[in-house]
Amino acid sequence: MSEPVRTRFAPSPTGYLHVGGARTALFNWLFARKHGGSFILRVEDTDQARNTREAREAIFSGMRWLGLDWDEGHEQGGEHGPYFQSQRTGIYERWFEKLRESGRVYEDDGAWRFKFERKPVTMKDLVCGEVTIDYRNESNTPDMVIRRSDGSFVFHFVNVVDDIEMKLSHVIRGEDHLMNTPKHLQLFEALEQKPPTYAHIPLILNADGSKMSKRDQGAAVHEYEERGFLPSAVNNFIALLGWSPKDDDEIFSTPELVDRFSLESVNRSPSRFDWDKCQWLNQQHLMALSPAEFAAVAKPHITQSGLAVTEDYEAMAASVQEKVQTLTEVPEMIDFYLKLPPVNEEIMFKLRKNGDAPTLLGDLATRMENITDWVQAKESIALTAEAHGIKPGKLMFPLRVALSQRSGGPGLDEMLAILGKEESIRRIRILSEQLAGSTESQ
Ligand code: GLU
Repeated sequence: MSEPVRTRFAPSPTGYLHVGGARTALFNWLFARKHGGSFILRVEDTDQARNTREAREAIFSGMRWLGLDWDEGHEQGGEHGPYFQSQRTGIYERWFEKLRESGRVYEDDGAWRFKFERKPVTMKDLVCGEVTIDYRNESNTPDMVIRRSDGSFVFHFVNVVDDIEMKLSHVIRGEDHLMNTPKHLQLFEALEQKPPTYAHIPLILNADGSKMSKRDQGAAVHEYEERGFLPSAVNNFIALLGWSPKDDDEIFSTPELVDRFSLESVNRSPSRFDWDKCQWLNQQHLMALSPAEFAAVAKPHITQSGLAVTEDYEAMAASVQEKVQTLTEVPEMIDFYLKLPPVNEEIMFKLRKNGDAPTLLGDLATRMENITDWVQAKESIALTAEAHGIKPGKLMFPLRVALSQRSGGPGLDEMLAILGKEESIRRIRILSEQLAGSTESQ
C-alpha cells in the first residue's frame, strides 16, 4: 500500500492571493482530491513584520471563492496543528535540538548554521526531472543559517520541519523554489526523515514574455470576482497555466479538472498569461449554466449597478447569456429593457440614411397593434416587408434600434417578448417620429 496523499498550500501572507499562489493551491488541491488524499493549508507567517491579518484573510477568502476547501488548517483544525508557523516555535525548538545533538549546527556570530554534507545531492522532481547540486565546493554552497541571532528560525528550516510534522507526501510548488529543494533534502537527511515527492511548476509569464508581477493585469484573484468571472472558469484558466490535458480539450468544470489532472502532464516550460483566453473561457462557462443559474450569478452585479431586479429579470438575463464574457457586462446589456435609453446619435445617423425607415416603422407599429397573440409579433415584420417590397432584413436594424437604441444585443424575438406589446409598439412609434422629424428638418 502506498502512503496516503497529503499536499499543502503554504502561503506567506504578505498581500492578496496572487494568481501564481492560486495556481499552486489549485494544483495541490486537484492532486489531493484526485487521489482521495488531504489538502492542508499552512500559513507561513514567521515574518511578523510583513504578515498582516488582512493578507491572511485575503488568502482564505480567495481560496473559498475558488472552492479550494482545505481539510486541515485555519478554522478546520486537524491533528498536526497549529497551522500557523507563528504558533509553532516549540516544535521548531525540538527539531533544532535534534540537529544540535547530532552536531549538525554550529554558532556563527550569534546565528546558527546548518552544516551541509559535502557531497552531490540529486533530487528527482516529477516535473523538472533530476537536478543535482554539488556541495563539495564549499565556496559555492556555504553552510546555511537556519536560526538568526534573534532566535527566529529561517524559512528553509521551518518549511522542512512542518513538511515532516504534517506528514506531507507531495510538495507541489513554484519553480522559484527549485534551487531550495537540495538544501531541504539535506535537512531531511540530517533529521533522519524521508522527504516528500517534489513537483516544481513552471513560472507564469505575461503575454509579452516578462515575468508576471503583482501589479500586472489578472494578478490578483479578487479582481476576477469583481470583474464578473466564475470561479470554475478561473480554476479552468489557471489550471491551463502550466498543465495541459493529453487531448485538445480546453474547457473543464472543476470536477473534470480533478478527474483529468496529473503531475505528469504539467509542462516544463513557462506558461504565458493570456487575458483574452481567460475571458473566452469565462464565456464558455457562463454559456454552460442554466438560465436560472446564470440569472442568479449575475444578480449581485445587477444590484451593484443600481438596476432594479424585476419580475422579468430572469428572461432579461437569459437573453444576453450567450453575449457576455463577464458578468459585469450584464447590467449594461439589459438596462434598456427597464428604460428606453437616450438617442444614440451614431446609430441614428446610420438610420437616417434609410429615408423609408419612419414609414416602415410606422406601418410596422400599426400592424403590430392588430396582433392578438403577441407570440406572433415577428410575423408582422415579414408582412410589413412584403407590403413595401423589401427584404425583412431591412427592417431588423430599425426595429432593434427602436427597441433598444443599440445596434447589437439580444435576439429580436426575446426583446419583443420581454418588452411586451404595448411597450414595443410605443418604442417603435417614438423612433418613427424621431426619424420623421429629423428627415423633414434636413
Ligand atoms: N511560504 C513559501 C512561499 O510562499 C512556501 C514555499 C513552499 O511551498 O514550500 O513561497
